Amino acid sequence: MPQLIAGNWKMNGTLAGIAAYAAALRPASPGAELLVCPPAPLIAPLRAALDGAPVALGAQDCAVKRSGAHTGDLSADLLAELGATHVILGHSERRADHAESSATVSEKARTAIAAGLVPIICVGETEAERDSGEAETVVRAQLAGSLPEELAGQTVPGVVAPGIIAYEPVWAIGTGRTPTEEDVAAMHASIRAALRRQLGAAGATMPILYGGSVKPSNAASLLALPEVGGALVGGASLKAEDFLAIASAAARD
Ligand code: PEP
Repeated sequence: MPQLIAGNWKMNGTLAGIAAYAAALRPASPGAELLVCPPAPLIAPLRAALDGAPVALGAQDCAVKRSGAHTGDLSADLLAELGATHVILGHSERRADHAESSATVSEKARTAIAAGLVPIICVGETEAERDSGEAETVVRAQLAGSLPEELAGQTVPGVVAPGIIAYEPVWAIGTGRTPTEEDVAAMHASIRAALRRQLGAAGATMPILYGGSVKPSNAASLLALPEVGGALVGGASLKAEDFLAIASAAARD
């Protein structure tokens, strides 16, 4: 399975910047799958500017409810209509800034799946949790709470909804710091074991992305680690050439 390089623009990007970004991505064929998650109002314009290039688009969040009186919330169905195929859920910035619990993340994932979106469910420990030796316990608890039963095929027997996990240590996001390769490999192995226990066969193949200060200079070594199925890239995804350099690092390994 090709690795997935997903860009999370967060609250960055403008309509004016779309054309140049799309022009840089259009001719690229890096060998990795590309996914760009801009702010929701930019999904449709970016999709149009990409003009059929094989770059998937995603959102950064969706509402629990599918429609109705929920001012300011974003419907997963509308995101899909705009061209999104994926949605990032439970990013640590949403868990922190909007007090999103794992239970809410699980409900949002269920809604996303019902709307035909692939949820990218984020987990990761804080620096204090890593320092106190609790990183794997915290991440396992987040997985236990954040993954809906649809991902194991338990709602419609035999029908397994696709999903993706992103391991993002909170202290590595936007800081330029990354865990050691040993720590990333150990956490991904721990996540794989938890996914197998929780989701059975579906958990054996679900991609696990690494996220947290991935950049062109460290991408190849991070992406070569066992059980790393790709990267979730924040800051470095804002520049098309850095994003493509990361994707090329994936293709080489
Ligand atoms: C992120 O926000 O998901 C992220 C990984 O950010 P950065 O790459 O900037 O650390």
